[in-house]
Amino acid sequence: MTELRVDLDALEANIDAVRGAVGAAELMLVVKDDAYGHGLGPVSRRAHDAGVRWFGAYDIETGSELRRALGPGIRIFVWMAASGEAMERAVAHDLDIGIGDAETLEAVAQAGARSGRAARVHLKIDTGLHRNGVRPEEWPQFVRRAREHEIAGRIEMIGVWSHIAEASDAEDDLARSAFDEAVHEASAAGLRPRLRHLSASAASLARPEFRYDLVRVGAFCFGIRPAGGPSEAELGIRPIAALQAPVTSVDGDRATVGIGRLDGLPSTLAGRVSVGTPAGPRSLLEVGADSTVENWPGAAPGDVVTIWGPGEQQEGSATDLAEAIGTIGEELAVRVSPLVPRSYVGE
Ligand SMILES: *Cc1c(COP(=O)(O)O)cnc(C)c1O
Repeated sequence: MTELRVDLDALEANIDAVRGAVGAAELMLVVKDDAYGHGLGPVSRRAHDAGVRWFGAYDIETGSELRRALGPGIRIFVWMAASGEAMERAVAHDLDIGIGDAETLEAVAQAGARSGRAARVHLKIDTGLHRNGVRPEEWPQFVRRAREHEIAGRIEMIGVWSHIAEASDAEDDLARSAFDEAVHEASAAGLRPRLRHLSASAASLARPEFRYDLVRVGAFCFGIRPAGGPSEAELGIRPIAALQAPVTSVDGDRATVGIGRLDGLPSTLAGRVSVGTPAGPRSLLEVGADSTVENWPGAAPGDVVTIWGPGEQQEGSATDLAEAIGTIGEELAVRVSPLVPRSYVGE
C-alpha cells in the first residue's frame, strides 16, 4: 500500500538531539502544516510523552485541536492573524498568541476583556524579514499601548519574538540587534517579557547567542536538514519518514508505481532521482498520475518501492530529492497528499 511511514522513535531521538544542543533554552516544537506532513496527532502525542511542553501550532484551529488532544498544562503558541471571534476562541483555549500589528493587539485585548481572562501575548518585532511584525519605528508606541492593556488586565505579557531569515550571518546579526533593542524598549514601557524567542532550526543549533529563552524548531526535529547545508550526521539528526508505494503493473523492464503527481510528488523529480527497489536503486523515469521506474527486469506487482528514505535500498531523504529539483525538504514533506495514509513506527 502507498503510505508515508513515520518513525516516532526517530522523532524522539531528534527532539532529544535538539534539546541537548540548545542547552538551557526551552524547545518549542513547531507542528504547523500537519506537523510538516507527518501527522499532527501522533507527532504531538509522542513529543508530549517525550516531555515537550511548548508547541508552535501557527493557526488557532490547530492550537485548539492540540489543546483538546493534550489537555491543560502545555503551552501552545499561535501566530496567524485572525478575526476577533477567533481570538476569543484562542483565549478560551488558553493559547499563547503572537501579535504582529497594532490592530491585532486591539482585537486580542478585546477578546481578553470579553472573556474576563487576560490573553497571553507575545509581541512580534519586525527585525528585517518584513513578514508580519511591528516595524521598529512603530514599536515604542505599540509596547506602550500593550502596557495599558496589561494594566487593565486584558492581556498578560509573556514574550517578545521575531523571525529571521537564517540565510546570512551578517543579516541575522543585524536582526538580533534590532531584537535586543525592541526587548529593551518593551522593558522601558514597563512590560516584563519573560520569554524572548528568535530562532528556528538553523540558528538554534549553529548560533548559541540566538537561543535566548525559547527556540522554535520544526525541520530539525523532523529530520529535515537545510538543503545545501550541513549533513544530518553533522547536525545529529536523522530523517523520520519514508514514502513507499507498491508496483501496480510491469511492462518489460519498466514498473509502474502506485504514487504520482496527484499524491503530491513533484513531476520535476522525473529523470532526476533514484528510488529504492528490492533490486537496488532505480531511476524514476516519469511522474504522472502514477510513476514509472525503469531498468528493473523481474519487477512484480506488489514489490515495494521507497521513493524517499530511510528505506530499503534508498539512501536518499526527502531533502536529497528536494536538492535534485532545487527546493527544500519541507516542500516535499508537506506536499504528500493527506489522502496518502500515514503509518507509524513506535506508536
Ligand atoms: C516554521 C516556523 C518555524 C520553524 O522553522 P524550522 O526552520 O522548520 O525550524 C519557526 N518560527 C516560525 C515563525 C515559523 O513559521
